[in-house]
Amino acid sequence: MKNKEYTRRDLRTIWHPCTQMKDHESLPMIPIKKGDGVWLEDFEGNRYLDAISSWWVNLFGHSNPRINEPLKKQLDTLEHVILAGFTHEPVIELSEKLVEITPGGLNRCFYADNGSSAIEVALKMSFHYWRNIGKEKKTRFINLSNSYHGETLGALAVGDVELYKDTYAPLLMQPITVPSPDCYHRETGESCHDYSLRMFRYMEQTLEKHAEETCAVIIEPLIQCAGNMRMYDAVYLELLRKACDKYDVHLIADEIAVGFGRTGTLFACEQANISPDFMCLSKGLTGGYLPLSVVLTTDRVYQAFYDDYEKLTAFLHSHSYTGNALACRAALATLDIFDQDNVIDANKGLARHLHQSVAELENHPHVGEIRQTGMVLAIEMVKDRKTKTPYDWQERRGLKVYQHGLKEGVLLRPLGNVVYFMPPYIITPQQIDMMAETAINGIHLATKNQ
Ligand SMILES: *Cc1c(COP(=O)(O)O)cnc(C)c1O
Repeated sequence: MKNKEYTRRDLRTIWHPCTQMKDHESLPMIPIKKGDGVWLEDFEGNRYLDAISSWWVNLFGHSNPRINEPLKKQLDTLEHVILAGFTHEPVIELSEKLVEITPGGLNRCFYADNGSSAIEVALKMSFHYWRNIGKEKKTRFINLSNSYHGETLGALAVGDVELYKDTYAPLLMQPITVPSPDCYHRETGESCHDYSLRMFRYMEQTLEKHAEETCAVIIEPLIQCAGNMRMYDAVYLELLRKACDKYDVHLIADEIAVGFGRTGTLFACEQANISPDFMCLSKGLTGGYLPLSVVLTTDRVYQAFYDDYEKLTAFLHSHSYTGNALACRAALATLDIFDQDNVIDANKGLARHLHQSVAELENHPHVGEIRQTGMVLAIEMVKDRKTKTPYDWQERRGLKVYQHGLKEGVLLRPLGNVVYFMPPYIITPQQIDMMAETAINGIHLATKNQ
């Protein structure tokens, strides 16, 4: 009864993100009263295991005392202050820490307050850098097919997921799109490494042809998350770094989703041993507590903006909540947990357990692929396993898995026909088993009928 009361009130005033609101005529919404570790609890005492980290943001569970306590202290000290002309302890400490833990050469932190805004910052900064050094012909960006970088107009423009983009196409700048190295499309018998390597030739050709007019290549390292959790090999990043240097084009690494351990290393770029010119971080940055994002860049980029005021070379960008003190404190508390608990190593065991937990689906007639990179595992439901023929999107098979999950107490939120796990790192092996069993049964149910 209590749940219903909240839903009724909600539906009178709230317009939810990424939602056809009419769906809620039949799909109940779930009002959450409290969070505790991997669990979310509604107003009637039902619990849901948060298998997707509340849209990929949560790292160490809900209401974690190790983040709550420092945050409460920060609240009693300083909640927020303008970051132009002023500074504060959490933002200084966080910047020092980020410079220390990110790949070499990323020495400058520019803050915003969400992932899309970080992308806007990186795009503008790259363009503005080239303009400041007299290369005004550089005005375009190269992206990958099936990529996602957020939903504000600039970020949307450099993404390539039709569902989010096509409607708004008339409003968007035009990137130069290169076919993705996404290994789902590799030939039978071909390794992911070989496929990603082979696909690089399109990038090389595009750079060769368009370098003069190109500011930067923007990519999601290793996993195209919103693009159905499609994965590719680190060799692509290695080659891309070299090619960007060769053709004098920036490399923007969007680690908003994959950063902070999701791929098995603290940052995905580490697996290719590269440093981008810009690294965008958000989502896990605050452990899933508060909105914050940051763009890290090099001294070289920074210096191209550093001059007398009259030269008008300063970077022109700001958000009201830039570098919010509470958000920075949550980020520091999150990074402390990484240090104290040796999280990256501990996750290796969890990743192995994730892999084993869905092994029985390996030969399922409607599973086209099970793929995994670190702490992200995805299961692609298909109409035909051999030909990888997809189900019609109108059938909404993923939604059936979602509904089954809720019934069984697991928050799964498939992307189309792709069921995936991206859990908080405090999940236990037993909880993984429960999550996997629910997903497996959901997949059986959703693929039962032709
Ligand atoms: C979520 C996401 C974004 C956008 O972040 P928001 O905070 O939702 O604006 C950008 N890039 C990637 C790779 C993401 O997963």
